[in-house]
Amino acid sequence: MSQENLIKLECTVCKKTNYYSQKNKKIIKERLQMKKYCRHCKKHTLHKETK
Ligand SMILES: [Zn+2]
Repeated sequence: MSQENLIKLECTVCKKTNYYSQKNKKIIKERLQMKKYCRHCKKHTLHKETK
């Protein structure tokens, strides 16, 4: 596991980092975004990749 591939997934509503994920930046250029449960918002929100 490389630190370079570690990304954070941030809730677009409350801006809290809720998840950590990995991706190969050499292969995937675009920013990841996915719907996940946010325990701060207490609902499913859109999470975006952040540094
Ligand atoms: Zn949230």
